[in-house]
Amino acid sequence: MRGKLTNRTARWLILVVVPTVACGLARSVLALRLMIWVGAGVTWLLLHYFERSQRDADRAAAEAASRQRFAAFLQHSSDVVTVLDADGVIRYESPSAKRVFGYEPGELLGTELKKLLHGEDRRRVFEAVIEAAAEGQAYNVVEARVLHADGSWRHTETSVSSLLDDPVVQGVILNTRDITERKELEAALSHQAFHDSLTKLPNRALLKDRIDHAVARAVRRQRALSVLLLDLDGFKAVNDSLGHAAGDLLLTAVADRLQDCVRPTDTCARLGGDEFAVLLEDLASPNDWQVVANRMLEALREPFSLAGKEVFVRASVGVAVRGQGGEDADELLRNADVAMYMAKSQGKNRFELFCPTMHSEMLRRLDLESDLRRAIEAGGEMVLHYQPTVVLQTGEIAGVEALVRWNHPERGLVPPLDFIPIAEETGLIVQLGEWVLREACRQAVAWDAEIPGAGDGAVADAGGLRREPPMTISVNLSVRQLQHDSLVATVRSVLDETGLDPSRLILEITETAVMNDHVMTIVRLQQLKDLGIGLAIDDFGTGYSSLAYLRRFPIDVLKIDRSFVDGVTAGSQKQALLRTIVELGRTLNMKTVAEGIEEHEELNQLRSLECDLGQGYYFARPLTADVVADLLRLGTLHPDAAVVGDAVTVVDRSSAPASSASSAS
Ligand code: C2E
Ligand code: MG
Ligand code: MG
Repeated sequence: MRGKLTNRTARWLILVVVPTVACGLARSVLALRLMIWVGAGVTWLLLHYFERSQRDADRAAAEAASRQRFAAFLQHSSDVVTVLDADGVIRYESPSAKRVFGYEPGELLGTELKKLLHGEDRRRVFEAVIEAAAEGQAYNVVEARVLHADGSWRHTETSVSSLLDDPVVQGVILNTRDITERKELEAALSHQAFHDSLTKLPNRALLKDRIDHAVARAVRRQRALSVLLLDLDGFKAVNDSLGHAAGDLLLTAVADRLQDCVRPTDTCARLGGDEFAVLLEDLASPNDWQVVANRMLEALREPFSLAGKEVFVRASVGVAVRGQGGEDADELLRNADVAMYMAKSQGKNRFELFCPTMHSEMLRRLDLESDLRRAIEAGGEMVLHYQPTVVLQTGEIAGVEALVRWNHPERGLVPPLDFIPIAEETGLIVQLGEWVLREACRQAVAWDAEIPGAGDGAVADAGGLRREPPMTISVNLSVRQLQHDSLVATVRSVLDETGLDPSRLILEITETAVMNDHVMTIVRLQQLKDLGIGLAIDDFGTGYSSLAYLRRFPIDVLKIDRSFVDGVTAGSQKQALLRTIVELGRTLNMKTVAEGIEEHEELNQLRSLECDLGQGYYFARPLTADVVADLLRLGTLHPDAAVVGDAVTVVDRSSAPASSASSAS
């Protein structure tokens, strides 16, 4: 203000006062000229002087405004500006350091920058600083983690430029921006790309990467490495019967159990669906995977509690060991898959180690699968054999169990254990099972017609057949059939079609199938019972049924698994177990059938325990329908008589063979 006033006064002096005074004073032309010259000169000088001071004042004002703007910018900028001296000590820190890193103004002055940097990032930052310094004004960008005043690490991006040669600054300028959120987002995205969203386990892509790295390390350190591929048996059943939410819960629980079986350095991954994989690294011996595989199967043996229900699942595990099982992730995974397929086909709930011959074996099985589909759809290749069930105390034939065989055009007679699992996996079992049921019922009625008196419960003449109660026909049901909604309607229509008295049909369900989903099973079994048929639990003792559950099932017959019968002797532990099961059956009002009786001693033990019925090679192998008819005509299977060899030879062991007919399998 004052500057402007002085300026105006000066102009007034120069333009008005000076010439007026000069003219007044001029007495001669010369003096006048002189005066004008001097006046003009003085005027010019004065004008120049005042213009210059005006410019200086304007510049000073502009600089002050700019400084103010810069200060405001530093104050409110999201970036933190730091000036370092040549020793890496902080000489200036912009006020935004408080907002971004939580430090009070001035708190960091005199601090060495390295103390604020993450150990792994220091080198990178200082390399950028040195490079910038060496190249003068050069400008580098570097990412680093910086210590926040609260002790956490913030991800930052810093541009580094050197003004060491600038006499005013004499330092390195760091312009730092907090990029923690961006980094976290990046990390989340990359986690998503490499992890399974349900179980949070690594996915196939990450597993493959880890396997490849692990292979390189294993080669260097000469340690063994193996890849285990695990597929749940029965997961689909859980998903179908209890719903997807329960299926998801099951998968998460399985993931947790698997992780508990391995070391933190091993990798558990979910490859999709019900398939998991485990990478075992740094094994001292190539066979060390066995311990883990056993541990995993054991861990899954415990029931899972889903939506208030106990659910049992099993797993099949395929193993590939680096070396003969492959040299990279793709090979190891492919071979573990082949081994897993073999484990599944060999009865599930087991592990198999890959060996090169498995490829051809798998091709054979794949052929079998397509042949089976054709055979079931076209019909004509499946046959039923029948194994008698005998009243142990009297030798009467109480009934027969229908057992399916596949008469393959090239392979000959294929046993059920070779194709039933395939039929179950592919769902073909539903169609096959319906055929078995229809054929067995039809056959039972046909025997009645063929052999007068059969099936009517009549007691035949001495030396002839004793059939009391009427001969039953047992048919095996697989879990897939039990879960199928049309089961009850199918059984009803087969009974109607064939005219078989429902009380003569017994459906056998394995213990594990029954335990899968209690609520659904109880409802379904009750619907079957309402048709008037009998129900048996097959292979009893191999599953995990608790007594409490058993009581709730409408079961008529307990078929004791042959492992309890095999080699039983008086006073043995097996005998004690058998006694418990037989007594349990009696308590629950169920008949007991001992499976797999092969020896006379086994029969004796079972009789002394008062087990009701028996089945086994000791009496008869599974026989063709014709042979069963012959057998029925021949007479009772006396407990001391047997069907031996390739021909049905009913021998009274205390005398000579009575008669013979040909056996099936
Ligand atoms: P399962 O229902 O427990 O049938 C008994 C199996 O034990 C039969 O084997 C029979 O031949 C065998 N066996 C009988 N007595 C003896 C003995 O004294 N010693 C020995 N070592 N074995 C004996 P098979 O016919 O090979 O059938 C095996 C399994 O296949 C059956 O076990 C059953 O679970 C399944 N299966 C057979 N037919 C069918 C069917 O039509 N449908 C379904 N879903 N499964 C079937
Ligand atoms: Mg059976
Ligand atoms: Mg059985």
